[in-house]
Amino acid sequence: MLAHRLGRAGRRVLAIEAGGRATLPAVADPPLWPTLSGSTLDWRYATVPQRGLDGRVVPYPRGKVLGGSSVINALAYQSGHPAAYDRWPAGWRHGDLLPYFKQAETFSGGGDAWRGGDGPLHVLSLADVHDRTPVASAFIAAAQECGFAMTPDIGGAVTTGVAWNQLSIKGHARDDAATAFFDSLGGSDVDLLLDAQVLGLVIERGRCLGVRLAGQILRAEGEVLLCAGAIDSPRLLMVSGVGPADALRAHGIAVAVDLPDVGANLEDHLLLAGVAYRARRAVEPSFYNHADALLYVPHAQADESPDHLIMCLSLPFVQPAVGALPPPAYTLVPCLMRPLSRGSVRLGSGDPMAPALIDPNYLSDPSDLESLVTAVALAREIGGAPAFADWRAEEVYPGRLWDDSAARHDFVRRAARSFHHPVGTCRIGAVVDTALCVQGVTGLRVIDASVLPGLPAAMINAAVTAVAERASDIVLGR
Ligand SMILES: Cc1cc2nc3c(=O)[nH]c(=O)nc-3n(C[C@H](O)[C@H](O)[C@H](O)COP(=O)(O)OP(=O)(O)OC[C@H]3O[C@@H](n4cnc5c(N)ncnc54)[C@H](O)[C@@H]3O)c2cc1C
Repeated sequence: MLAHRLGRAGRRVLAIEAGGRATLPAVADPPLWPTLSGSTLDWRYATVPQRGLDGRVVPYPRGKVLGGSSVINALAYQSGHPAAYDRWPAGWRHGDLLPYFKQAETFSGGGDAWRGGDGPLHVLSLADVHDRTPVASAFIAAAQECGFAMTPDIGGAVTTGVAWNQLSIKGHARDDAATAFFDSLGGSDVDLLLDAQVLGLVIERGRCLGVRLAGQILRAEGEVLLCAGAIDSPRLLMVSGVGPADALRAHGIAVAVDLPDVGANLEDHLLLAGVAYRARRAVEPSFYNHADALLYVPHAQADESPDHLIMCLSLPFVQPAVGALPPPAYTLVPCLMRPLSRGSVRLGSGDPMAPALIDPNYLSDPSDLESLVTAVALAREIGGAPAFADWRAEEVYPGRLWDDSAARHDFVRRAARSFHHPVGTCRIGAVVDTALCVQGVTGLRVIDASVLPGLPAAMINAAVTAVAERASDIVLGR
């Protein structure tokens, strides 16, 4: 969307993308989103072995396609609790970003003080449809039985409580950064170079002059805007000599700027797959992203952002390390929204084509483990509520295992997997300044999830979109 906004304002923009256009039919079909991970549209990364997850290597999909990860993601689109943004530096707090959340979207419920009514990206609230999967209605009722209020618009004045999901969908098809910003508004404002992998940035005497591709250098007339995401933006900075000096020298890379925080402070949400139930009868499939309803658990302090999200999935969703569960089944998925564990993105070599070493360092902070135990207990309480009586044959996972307190940590470690929300590896205040300019380099900004100074209390696509919207105003000098 950044390239598009700049192009529309009359700037000459060349957008360079390693992938091509999204040609797989599954991209448009929301329930098929899980098939996109591991497909030709995915960089197919994986973490290094995670000590906190019994040494497991965790798949780490990232979109390699025009539109990036918004083309392969699970479509959930929500900004989350304002307090999460209010911990960010001045200029990037919720009040600063709210106009940009609104500017980006057309919300199915219409525009108001919180929502946009005429932006490029279409956001569908499942409150506004009639074909939601019935097991999600049981979840809404069960959460209310457990004392949680129903929230009509989870992106409105109240961002916690139990609610229908909201998704980046137009009609019945996925809307993403490519369809919303390039296609529907006319991508001709921007020159596109597809299937072109950037190998590095050309930095001389503290100035970024352009980018290096295989066999050629492209010189920028103005600025270089690096938007390769939370994994590849720090990787490209490091292979170009911007990063922790000792680590760069160890890989034979000439140091342009010693910037120790490049690649540090990787934050990611964890989810558990999951608290799973064998159903008494067939569970109707979702026409959307399988999680038609969810609960943002209010924090004990009303003005704080939630620690936990619990999603209701209308299918069995169980990490293989936990076990198997054939249909008919449904799953409650506890998610850790304020992890304290921090990881890193590092180079494994000086080869500009080599993938980075991704280490989210999951559950390295012991309080994350305890927090997930709390979230599982709450999910089980909701799953055991009367409203689920018609559906629930048996809680299969964790089931009786949970009675043994020593086994609870073990279950959490085996059920945990990435929610695919990496942020923070070029964060504002450490790697880039509040105008998103890389410290110590002129002519270079980073504008993507890597600059987020912390995780929002929701999935990250809306936050990244709003940050990019505001960044386009900054680049344009508005
Ligand atoms: C499986 C999955 C499910 C998700 N589900 C949700 C969800 O439901 N809701 C939500 O809010 N978020 C979700 N996310 C996260 C979210 O969509 C992304 O994290 C977010 O879009 C990140 O945006 P970004 O611009 O920082 O990076 P990206 O969107 O990843 O864009 C980076 C782009 O840079 C390109 N690139 C990288 N390296 C190079 C190079 N060397 N040369 C040229 N081009 C390069 C990539 O190909 C890509 O197009 C999900 C992510 C995944 C992977």
